[in-house]
Amino acid sequence: MDGSAKGRKAVVASLRAWFDAGAEAEGEAADDRVDWLRALPFVALHLACLGVIWVGVSATAVTVAAVLYAVRMFALTAFYHRYFSHRTFRTTRGVQFLFALIGAACVQRGPLWWAAHHRHHHRHADTARDPHAPGVHGFLWSHAGWFLTPRAFATDLSRVRDLAVYPELRWLDRYDIAVPVGLAAALYGLGCLLERWAPGLETSGAQLLVWGFAISTVVLFHATVTINSLAHRFGSRRFDTADDSRNNVWLALLTFGEGWHNNHHFFPGTARQGFRWWEIDLSWYGLRVLALLGLVRDLKPVPAWVLAKARR
Ligand SMILES: [Zn+2]
Ligand SMILES: [Zn+2]
Repeated sequence: MDGSAKGRKAVVASLRAWFDAGAEAEGEAADDRVDWLRALPFVALHLACLGVIWVGVSATAVTVAAVLYAVRMFALTAFYHRYFSHRTFRTTRGVQFLFALIGAACVQRGPLWWAAHHRHHHRHADTARDPHAPGVHGFLWSHAGWFLTPRAFATDLSRVRDLAVYPELRWLDRYDIAVPVGLAAALYGLGCLLERWAPGLETSGAQLLVWGFAISTVVLFHATVTINSLAHRFGSRRFDTADDSRNNVWLALLTFGEGWHNNHHFFPGTARQGFRWWEIDLSWYGLRVLALLGLVRDLKPVPAWVLAKARR
């Protein structure tokens, strides 16, 4: 194959992967450079926030954006992270799918991809093999570069064999664009309906699309990845772990408990990340409520030996 044919094939593969994440298996998985064509939707999502100049703002739009941030952050931290990646509690297949679906609406790929990369992070945290180690690869790359490369696009199923047995999760992972597109369309439709039937709310389809989808998702994304970048740099270290993880109250508030990241790296096997009563961990409280409702069970607590090892 000559150079231009090879280039054309790469362009087609990148475009196809927008709609079918399974397509990248044919690409060059060892490539560590950003694939800008494949990353275009991610860039476009950021640019869409500028739409606020034209659509303006309303209390309705800000409320929708805030609620979507909260619900999706909970799905990410309680389920993508504490359930799918670390299996720190149990639930039914239906609830598992429901939160996988909400997690997929976060536009951070599917549950298998997310868990596979996260398990890899724990195994190699802050070494050259950790794709988002700020001490090795730099802040910007760890924050928002590493996952735009062909190497990171693929889902290594050998790391998530326990999750890959569910065809519905594999589907969400492969067609990871489906739920975000559905959410965007639903927000646009809702805004159009409200504009017509509840003009007092002063919103529109375009306004809910910009606030509920673009702005809420971009803020959610950058809040989430502070745990990869900032929480391995700034904060205190209660446990002397082999990595550089930190506890940081501001990040914990922003991410519903994930900022207690040094706690988490020392003992990832608990559904709880704030180990002391004053370490606010909203996802843990949310999981307690779901347990009371009978939707989840067997939340793994923090063992006494872990607390005994804590410096303070
Ligand atoms: Zn970490
Ligand atoms: Zn983790």
